[in-house]
Amino acid sequence: MNRRSFLRGTAGAGLALSAGLPSLCARLAAEDGGPDARVEARHYVKLADREIECRLCPRLCRLGDKERGYCGVRENVGGTYYTLVYGKVCSLNVDPIEKKPFFHVLPGTTALSLATAGCNVNCKFCQNWEISQARPEQVETIDLSPEAAAARAADARCPSIAYTYTEPTVFFEYMVDTAARARQNGIRNVVVTGGHINAEPLAELLSVVDAVKVDLKGFTQDFYTRYVRGELGPVLETIRAVARSKAWLEIVYLVIPTLNDRMDLIREMARWVRSEAGADVPLHFSRFHPMYLVKNLPPTPVSTLEAARRAALEEGLRFVYVGNVPGHEAEDTNCPGCGTTVVARTAYRIDAVRIDKGKCEKCGTLIPGLWT
Ligand code: SF4
Repeated sequence: MNRRSFLRGTAGAGLALSAGLPSLCARLAAEDGGPDARVEARHYVKLADREIECRLCPRLCRLGDKERGYCGVRENVGGTYYTLVYGKVCSLNVDPIEKKPFFHVLPGTTALSLATAGCNVNCKFCQNWEISQARPEQVETIDLSPEAAAARAADARCPSIAYTYTEPTVFFEYMVDTAARARQNGIRNVVVTGGHINAEPLAELLSVVDAVKVDLKGFTQDFYTRYVRGELGPVLETIRAVARSKAWLEIVYLVIPTLNDRMDLIREMARWVRSEAGADVPLHFSRFHPMYLVKNLPPTPVSTLEAARRAALEEGLRFVYVGNVPGHEAEDTNCPGCGTTVVARTAYRIDAVRIDKGKCEKCGTLIPGLWT
C-alpha cells in the first residue's frame, strides 16, 4: 500500500474505525495540492512598531516581529500575523461520532475527523499531547485544502466533519473555511473544543457549524490554573454563547480522582449548566485514565461517575451520561417522558434508535438533538 492509497483507506471506513487513537503525525505525503502554509490570521490588530495583538482567544497574545503566540502556530512576520497551520493536517481519521462524543447528533454515523498541531492551553492530562503541544515543524502533515477536506468527507460517506483531537480554535481560519465549504456540499460540521475562544470569533464560528462539544475540565479557577493553564470564566461564556446559538451543545466533564471529583462542586456545576445552558444539554461524565503528566492517579472509579450522574439528574438535567465505560447502561439515551431507551449504545456501536422526527416513538416526547 502506497501513501496515497493509505490515506484513501483512512478516509474510507474500516481502517480508521478500528483505530483507538488519532493517527498521530501521520506519515503521509502531500497529495491534495494544499494551500500555502502561511495564511494571514483573522481576529488580530496591528499595533505600533510591527507589534500585533491576537484577539482569537482570551490569552490576547501581544507579540513583536518574528514572535509566535502561546499556541505556537501563529506568527508575527513584519507586523502581519499569520497562521502556520492552514490546511496542514496532522491527524485524519474516520471516527464514529459517538467517539467525540456527540450522543444527540446523527447517531450511528461517522465524522471525518481532523486536526492540526497546536493548543492554547496545556492540560496536564491531555490524551493527544504529542500533537496538541507540538509546533508545526514537529509533526508530519498532509496538505488538505478546505475543498479537499469537504470532498474527502463526501467520498468517505461521512455526513459530518469533526474539528477535534487538538484545540481547533488555534486553526480557526482553516476550520471556518472548511466548515463553510462543507456546508455548501450538505455536510455538517461539529467542533470539539476546550472553549477558550473570544466572543467575536466564536460568533463567526457558530455561523458555520452545527454542533459544539465543550470540555468543561473543572469548576474552579484553581483547577484551571494548576492543571489546564487556562481560565474558567471564558469557558463558561463559550457554553452560554453556544447554548444561545442555533448550534447544538454537549458538555463533557472528565472526572479525575482527587482533582475535580468533589461531589458538591459537581452538583454546583450541574446546577449552573441547567440554569445557564438548559436542562436539555447532554452532560457526559467521562472516566479518566492515567495520561501525559498525570500518571500517578488511578482510573476514575465507576462508582464516582455514577454518583456524579445521579447528582446531575437530581439537579434537573435530563440527559446525563457515563463515558469511557463501554457497556455501561448510562451510555443509553432514555426518554424523559416514558423512560423508553430511545438510543441504545454499546461503546461506539448503536444498537437501536427509537426516535421518529425528533420524538420518542413510544410516547411522542420531544428528544432534543440533530437526528437526521
Ligand atoms: S490563539 Fe494563540 S496567539 Fe492567539 S491569543 Fe490565543 S494563544 Fe495567543
